[in-house]
Amino acid sequence: MHFSIRTIPILPWGMLNAFLVTGPGGTILVDTGLPGSERTIDRALQAEGLGWQDIKLIILTHGHIDHAGSAANIRRLSGAQVLYHAAETDYCMGKKPILRPTRLFGRLFRLTGAIERPFPPVTADIAVEGKTFDLETLGLSGTVLHTPGHTTGSVSLMLPSGDVLAGDLAASGILLGGIALRGRPERPPFEEDPRIVAGSLEELLSAGAVRFHLGHGGPLGAKAIANHVRRLKRS
Ligand SMILES: [Zn+2]
Ligand SMILES: [Zn+2]
Repeated sequence: MHFSIRTIPILPWGMLNAFLVTGPGGTILVDTGLPGSERTIDRALQAEGLGWQDIKLIILTHGHIDHAGSAANIRRLSGAQVLYHAAETDYCMGKKPILRPTRLFGRLFRLTGAIERPFPPVTADIAVEGKTFDLETLGLSGTVLHTPGHTTGSVSLMLPSGDVLAGDLAASGILLGGIALRGRPERPPFEEDPRIVAGSLEELLSAGAVRFHLGHGGPLGAKAIANHVRRLKRS
């Protein structure tokens, strides 16, 4: 089963990524970037020889503005269904997120107020409840897994190839993703519960994840993630 995963650079240097996943059954957009990311996503579609109407499903890994900010507009442009976890409804509908900074950068970033800005709320056509949701029910391939910790309703998309699109469950590189040290796992600037993150990452590893595609930085291999899990458990 062949999948192509195209990283959409919402911001340069891997600072913020969304993804186009094309496999049997069609194309899935995983995350939608900050508000105003429509043109960047359109360019990525064109580079794949696709248009808005080719998006069959929009998966939001979670409801932070840098992942869900353009979702309402892209749903309108594409007509695609939006899927997120029921536990993420409040954030996707505009409730201000709980921000627990993981380090100095997160504290400084919180001061800018950027991540608490309002964005167009987006309702779920498919609100996943429980642990897993098999995309086969939509004629697509892959499994959505509930992987809480970064936020309560964070999900990951697991493909049969062992690729997993894990949102902000981990990050890499200095600052917000990019620029340097992309191969070194890092906690994202905010994380609601690191212990729960560690448990979710372990579940993905034991489910066979080999490559982690991330919202900030990445991708990272299974070994780097296993090391990160050990660090998180000590934190
Ligand atoms: Zn986030
Ligand atoms: Zn993020």
